[in-house]
Amino acid sequence: MGETTRQFEEQFSMLLSVKHAIAVSSCTAGLHLANQNLGIEREDEVICPALAFVAGAKPIRFLGTIPVFSEIQILDRLCLSPSDIDSRINRRTRAIQVVHFAGYPCDMDAVMSVSRRHGLPVIEDCSHAPGADYKGQKCGTIGDLGCFSFYSTKNMTTAEGGMVTTNNDALADKVRLLRSHGMTSVPMDRHEGRAYSYDVVDLGYNYRIDEIRSAIGLVQLGKLEDNNSRRELRQKWYLEGLGSGLRIRIPFRGFRGSPAHHIFPIMLDQDVSREGFMRRMKERGIQTSIHYPPVYLFEFYRQELGCKPGSLPITEEVGQREITLPLYPSMAESDADYVCRSVTEVLGENKTAGN
Ligand SMILES: *Cc1c(COP(=O)(O)O)cnc(C)c1O
Repeated sequence: MGETTRQFEEQFSMLLSVKHAIAVSSCTAGLHLANQNLGIEREDEVICPALAFVAGAKPIRFLGTIPVFSEIQILDRLCLSPSDIDSRINRRTRAIQVVHFAGYPCDMDAVMSVSRRHGLPVIEDCSHAPGADYKGQKCGTIGDLGCFSFYSTKNMTTAEGGMVTTNNDALADKVRLLRSHGMTSVPMDRHEGRAYSYDVVDLGYNYRIDEIRSAIGLVQLGKLEDNNSRRELRQKWYLEGLGSGLRIRIPFRGFRGSPAHHIFPIMLDQDVSREGFMRRMKERGIQTSIHYPPVYLFEFYRQELGCKPGSLPITEEVGQREITLPLYPSMAESDADYVCRSVTEVLGENKTAGN
């Protein structure tokens, strides 16, 4: 971590208008540090979504803390419901962790009002939402800490990498300390004569980013806004190409604001076989994916936390019906057309196929 990392962090914090941006090795690492820094411990509870990548609940579990899965708003709004968050708060609750699903900001006014009422900190998982804007504030600057992923599937990438953002000086200092072995100075300080030795004052990790990734990150950051609007345009093509009458619902349709357009999720009607749909699309050379199988239905979480199917009905329904169509900044309009045509045709076949 030298000059390039410092520049990457500075540029990132400028883009978000946030006081601190601290580069780390992944978003998982960032979420681990975020939870640990809030003083969360064994037997405490952190509220989080189950309709998310497992990397959200996992860092909570690293600390021996219990992830309490909360329900999403409705089938068309896939972020956490603030009133459901509220209903799960008890004396063991220590934090609220939200995901800006698909790059669409959560209802942060309501989330922050719940958090203020109970005096609980908020962690924003912004893996889908770099550059997304909520009423003039960037995602990752509204709660106490924001965590970003630069994994290769995200809107901006360093192949592997992440960033933690905060306006809180004390939290920023702790993130910096813990990302590099809990040491009071880094090699760069010693190289530049700012320090000669160091002390170890906490049980830190190696969650560092490196200069090569930061260099990639600087270039990627410069392309982020343009790439996000390219994603937006491709989403418009989809919305036009997937006119009405199909047996699908399109979440977030008519959403107002400036999301990051990370992915394009659709919801198949209940009588459509998702497996059959995915297979037919694959035969046409179109990759689809699922966001997400609910975290608490995974074997490990059932065993570890005694989670049971049926506890979050809306989350589970999305987990069964959701399909994500390809979306990337360089996608050609003819390819988007081809995807739309294929969706229409495959849904037509699926009616009789009964697979
Ligand atoms: C990708 C992703 C993560 C994990 O990011 P890594 O950088 O791979 O650790 C966490 N949460 C969500 C919602 C993600 O999409």
